[in-house]
Amino acid sequence: MSFQRLGLRAELTEAVSAKGYTEPTPIQAKAIPSILEGRDLLGGSQTGTGKTAAFTLPLLQRLADSEARFHQQSDRPRRRLRHPRALVLTPTRELAAQVGDSVAVYGEGLALRSTVIFGGVGINPQIKRLREGVDILVATPGRLLDHAEQGTIDLSRIEILVLDEADRMLDMGFIHDIRRVLKLLPERRQNLLFSATYSDEIKRLADGLLHDPVSVEVARRNTAAETVEQVVHPVAKARKRALLSHLVREGDWHQVLVFTRTKHGANRLAKQLDQDGITASAIHGNKSQNARTRALADFKSGKIRVLVATDVASRGIDISRLPHVVNYELPNVPEDYVHRIGRTGRAGEEGKAHALVSADEKGLLRDIEKLLKRSIPKKEIDGFGFQSGDEAEPVKPARGGQKRGGRNRSRSRRGGGGGGGGENRGQGEGGGSRPGQAKRRTGNSGYSGDGAGAGGGSSANRRPRRRGGRGRRPSGSPQS
Ligand code: AMP
Repeated sequence: MSFQRLGLRAELTEAVSAKGYTEPTPIQAKAIPSILEGRDLLGGSQTGTGKTAAFTLPLLQRLADSEARFHQQSDRPRRRLRHPRALVLTPTRELAAQVGDSVAVYGEGLALRSTVIFGGVGINPQIKRLREGVDILVATPGRLLDHAEQGTIDLSRIEILVLDEADRMLDMGFIHDIRRVLKLLPERRQNLLFSATYSDEIKRLADGLLHDPVSVEVARRNTAAETVEQVVHPVAKARKRALLSHLVREGDWHQVLVFTRTKHGANRLAKQLDQDGITASAIHGNKSQNARTRALADFKSGKIRVLVATDVASRGIDISRLPHVVNYELPNVPEDYVHRIGRTGRAGEEGKAHALVSADEKGLLRDIEKLLKRSIPKKEIDGFGFQSGDEAEPVKPARGGQKRGGRNRSRSRRGGGGGGGGENRGQGEGGGSRPGQAKRRTGNSGYSGDGAGAGGGSSANRRPRRRGGRGRRPSGSPQS
């Protein structure tokens, strides 16, 4: 199967060849023809499957085609109206930037303009860019609404809407912002929704948004990318850092993405690894956008060996052939494990996901295995197994994490400036208090009907302290 056979125009097939892609990935092969036909689409796809190109390529083509039709039908000189005609919403700045890059790269041969809009950076350059006119807008919801309120954006001519990583947007509490954005769009448009997991909330969103959608699924629901080899290393909590250094050294790993639960923990671990002689940086929501971009660039170029990240910051990190992902601490939400390990083994490459699991995390591991519907192989590393006494260690609430309820996002106060560094409220970096979590535990289909026997109740009993925060719903909206 070639890209030409999918019906893509030459400018686009040339762009993908230049990227070195020889054939479409399964999601591209399935989604591109339907999107080209103008159908709505529900894409069940994890990151790493090539989903960005799956929607970007046909989106570019449809915009280029309608532009060409306009010129054929009109003798008038070209009007440079340039109101955005396609909108891609993403949960994080990193993902927005990455999708923006893809739009620019794939669309290089087309006369279409695009821009990326997110918070944490000055709004004025964005306003200037919008005034100059764009065809494709890639944005995080909060900053987009800031522009809408200030009247610096007109979304009334959007022809194609993409919700990328919609499950993550809902997890992060963006549902109200999404609904606000939808009200600014014209009724008639093409809608594409991509999500790696399907909660009831996602189904509701999809039902309200999509008209007679084509459903495309390339990985089984809630399963980890199949190319990723997973392994659990049981380890005493106090020995985790030593084990990580050992694995990096002994395995001669040169590019490792490590996940911690908290921003504070990410900073501390990066510092300690550096002291151990292993170059490392941390990336999380408290870092400035520049610091995040720099850390990522250093990691990509090989200047640093280890990138320590929290869940939100990692979203959108796209490094081809990332060989190792380490769960230094297991996430509180099992689906996050799937997202994390999706950072490796991308687009058919082999990858390995290691989880360093201490005795107090056994319950979290059980939840993850239940979601995956299989057990993850365990491999104890000599000298680093569980130690007696570790078993009894209680789960400590995560420190240095998010502020519950987040920043007051009263619209009137938010307009204007850079908007601070935090990209959202529900970062999951503070010990399981994400807004989506309450729903996940009570209503997520990932937990029901899996036949695993132990229901959510037993897991509740295992970790009573974490459940204390779940009922809370933050006020206001997240930031982006
Ligand atoms: P995504 O799932 O969109 O995050 O893409 C994951 C990775 O796959 C990115 O690094 C893309 O550059 C790469 N990729 C996308 N399409 C293809 C393809 N057809 N062949 C090889 N790599 C691809």
